[in-house]
Amino acid sequence: MKALVMGGGMSGLATAVNLLEQGIEVEIIDADEIFGGRANSWLDKDGDMIDNALHVFMSYYLNLQNFFKKLGVYDKLKWVKPEFHLPQENGPKCYMRFNNMPAPFHIAASFFGLLNYKVQPLWKLFASAPTMIGLLGKTEKELEEMDEISWGEYRYRRAPKGSFNYFDPAAHGLTFTEPYMLSAKVMASWITHIFAGPEYSRIAFADGGLGEIWVGSCLDYIKKKGGKFETQKTVTAINIKDGKITDVIINGKEKRTADIYVSAMTPWALRKVLPKECFEYDYFKDICYFQNAPSMSVQIWYDKTITDPDDDVLFLTSNCSFNCSADLSLLIPRVFKGGSMMELVLSPADHLEPMPDEVIFKQCDNDIRKRWPKAADAQVKKYVVVRERQGVYRPVPGMEKHRPYQRSPYSNLYLTGDWTKTHVSSGGMEAATWTANKVVELIAEDKLNKKISLNVEFEPKGPLLFLYPYIRYMGPAIAAILGTALVKLIRRF
Ligand SMILES: Cc1cc2nc3c(=O)[nH]c(=O)nc-3n(C[C@H](O)[C@H](O)[C@H](O)COP(=O)(O)OP(=O)(O)OC[C@H]3O[C@@H](n4cnc5c(N)ncnc54)[C@H](O)[C@@H]3O)c2cc1C
Repeated sequence: MKALVMGGGMSGLATAVNLLEQGIEVEIIDADEIFGGRANSWLDKDGDMIDNALHVFMSYYLNLQNFFKKLGVYDKLKWVKPEFHLPQENGPKCYMRFNNMPAPFHIAASFFGLLNYKVQPLWKLFASAPTMIGLLGKTEKELEEMDEISWGEYRYRRAPKGSFNYFDPAAHGLTFTEPYMLSAKVMASWITHIFAGPEYSRIAFADGGLGEIWVGSCLDYIKKKGGKFETQKTVTAINIKDGKITDVIINGKEKRTADIYVSAMTPWALRKVLPKECFEYDYFKDICYFQNAPSMSVQIWYDKTITDPDDDVLFLTSNCSFNCSADLSLLIPRVFKGGSMMELVLSPADHLEPMPDEVIFKQCDNDIRKRWPKAADAQVKKYVVVRERQGVYRPVPGMEKHRPYQRSPYSNLYLTGDWTKTHVSSGGMEAATWTANKVVELIAEDKLNKKISLNVEFEPKGPLLFLYPYIRYMGPAIAAILGTALVKLIRRF
């Protein structure tokens, strides 16, 4: 039995690995010059490492970690301390540090690192805390229901305007979307994962170029198991007859056939090559709802170190041209030698797309100099603006119901990719590997009559977990106690 996997990003490559392990013959093709899709990197003409974008690996990415263990590259993840720095314009350093104490106390304690935060009044910061902590008690059903409203609307209902501004860089970096366009479910679900305990707030960076750490090993693995792979093979048409895929056309001329076809392409690539008759099914109509949320990645090399030795973390910046950033010279000095190499994520980037690279760079450089005082006299050695392979799908309210399941109405066509149906997140590398596992679980069931279980599910552990269902009452309870105390005090006088 032969499978043709169309698209060789993380989801396509993980699917190929899984299929080969089930004894299915695999051919994987990609339109690009390199495999790896968006989780990728390459060397430029000077031999410098260019990441497609700064990627962070969360400790709750259990399926991604298992995939990396299988490839023998788990040690290429560089775990850093559970801490995020929030540099501010001409201001003191602030941080969210998750100490090793039982959840939810570790979250409450993390707010004290923000006492010097000037982007919003302190009282508003604390006003947001009960809502943030209260999210931990949401059931899966309640989270699903939150997909009908925006994150902007959800938070304005619960705390004064501007109370959650400190969280915007994370929301922008994660979804490339403004809060008023962003599903509340997406943010709530992410918060319930990273706030579930101090061990889940940890992140890792690639210990090297993003693609360098895993793509080569993955292709070696596929080759060793007898799989075939080819780049610069663009699927230009999918042909269907009698409820089955008969063949696909590559580069407009070459015909390829297989017993099973797995699309691991983006939704916009897939909907372009599907024949008209597909769109009679709601399943395929749903693919037309996906919109691209653009991003941009900028790397700037400075001739001197502009950060502090303890800045080996992710930076989150508000009111700034970039939202997430890191000094990769501190994190991976083996690759980025000397000075500081700042890697920045710019999103949402809808308005940046028409701007020239130089304008974007200058804006970023200015913002860096305002936030890292040591940059004042630093010289820029080089900068790169990456525009290709950018974007994620925009998780607007109501999008969850349009995400297609991996099993399609055609008996030999399956879909995978971070945008297809999964409860783990609205996208990202864990969604890419979870869907790659799910699609092969389904293929094994349908074609091999075999029940297999490849995915592992995130189940938070902690001594106070039993308290979570009641956590939402904490805010009103504290308000009631303080209110009663205040009234008693007033009566006394
Ligand atoms: C700026 C940025 C920052 C990100 N940061 C993070 C992060 O910090 N953490 C995280 O978890 N995730 C992050 N992500 C998301 C992560 O990169 C993706 O979730 C993951 O790489 C998706 O993998 P995929 O295989 O589903 O899709 P893709 O990587 O997009 O793969 C799709 C593949 O299909 C190929 N293709 C398209 N059309 C055709 C065609 N017609 N024929 C053949 N092949 C085709 C493409 O070339 C591509 O290789 C980020 C993404 C971006 C853009």
